[in-house]
Amino acid sequence: ARTFVVTGAASGIGRLTAQKLRDRGDTVIGVDLRDVEVAGDLSNRAGRLAAAEEATRLAGGTVDAVIACAGLAIPKVVTAAVNYFGMTEFLEAMQPALIRAAAPRAALISSMASLQPVAPPLVEALLSDDEASALAIAAQLEQDPETGTLIYSSSKQAISRWVRREAPGARWAGSGIPLNAVGPGTVVTPMTAELLSTPEGSALVDAVVPMPLHGHQGPESIADLLLWLTSVENTHCCGQTIYCDGGADAVLRGDDV
Ligand code: NAD
Repeated sequence: ARTFVVTGAASGIGRLTAQKLRDRGDTVIGVDLRDVEVAGDLSNRAGRLAAAEEATRLAGGTVDAVIACAGLAIPKVVTAAVNYFGMTEFLEAMQPALIRAAAPRAALISSMASLQPVAPPLVEALLSDDEASALAIAAQLEQDPETGTLIYSSSKQAISRWVRREAPGARWAGSGIPLNAVGPGTVVTPMTAELLSTPEGSALVDAVVPMPLHGHQGPESIADLLLWLTSVENTHCCGQTIYCDGGADAVLRGDDV
């Protein structure tokens, strides 16, 4: 049995991932705002570091894998803070506990939204790890509903680029830790429930997220991929965002590989 730390474990994809791990006999330390082992707020640095410290303590100092799922899709500043720094800074804070494990793994959730229009200055500010500047740019974008939606896509594009940049480096590949992301399409979870509850909302999503294979997906499609990416069997997958999105990436990017 392995010990996993799963953020966003109180709902949706994170919750199901934690459940599947427990069902097969692994130990899970969930991190979320509430209803989990470590109640913490990943929207700010102090919360991230405190959550990582508590998760490490509960694990007895060694963690086999970290799966970062916590995220938001609202057109607000907090989405940039949680979706980017709540994953990158948290994973970095968990790194000492991962290094002690025999076969450490790390995975996080990006999105097919990383392929949609973004606000390039926000993406660059996130990637420069300058949280104050990034949040100031997001605050500007938040003013207008049209640009507000770019906060989510920008946070996810930055996450996929961060994984690509960091995974081959000393901290991850150099320490024997595969670091990868998954890119879901439209997943039926509490995050999308309201939007998908009306035919109009559903049509709006489907216009930007085309899913020719099987349509909207259940959270198990993503949970199973996260389980494999963080398994001992994954020895060489490194720096990837694996799109599991009913074909949305293939439709949108075509054969531009
Ligand atoms: P969800 O809303 O069901 O779960 C997200 C969890 O993150 C919640 O439990 C929430 O409390 C937690 N969270 C939010 N802010 C937090 C904070 N400040 N500190 C700690 N925890 C916090 O959503 P989901 O659909 O399971 O989404 C999981 C991940 O998948 C997110 O990163 C999301 O962006 C991504 N994603 C979802 C979809 C989709 O269609 N549902 C598509 C692509 C990517």
